[in-house]
Amino acid sequence: MKKCSKCKEEKDSSLFRKDKRNKDGFQSHCVECQKQYNNNWKNSSSYFTHHWYQGQKTKTELDSFVIEEATELKKLREKTTKIKWEVDHIIPIHHPLCCGLHNAFNIQVVPTVWNSKKGNRNMNTLFPTN
Ligand SMILES: [Zn+2]
Repeated sequence: MKKCSKCKEEKDSSLFRKDKRNKDGFQSHCVECQKQYNNNWKNSSSYFTHHWYQGQKTKTELDSFVIEEATELKKLREKTTKIKWEVDHIIPIHHPLCCGLHNAFNIQVVPTVWNSKKGNRNMNTLFPTN
């Protein structure tokens, strides 16, 4: 018999996982408590992901501000460079591999020609260095 360090119940050694690092060769808590622990961890991480995602979906004041600023910047750049610019998402909003976010941290102002070259987001092709 072994006492579980978590639920404090005396249980048969077979209800404890083997752990060589421990003196008696078993984990200090029982299998049930280990399960509980794993579940809690899973729940809390999905809880976190869920709320993080929910939070990202709604635009904050900062997001609106940055988007407004970016729009102003776009107009300004169009005036000075005489080419079309647009407010773009650094990470595309709809992409099979990732999901970009319409918020302050995913906004950039890029030339329209740059955007029309699909998948080609290398600054060097637009402004060659050599
Ligand atoms: Zn236990």
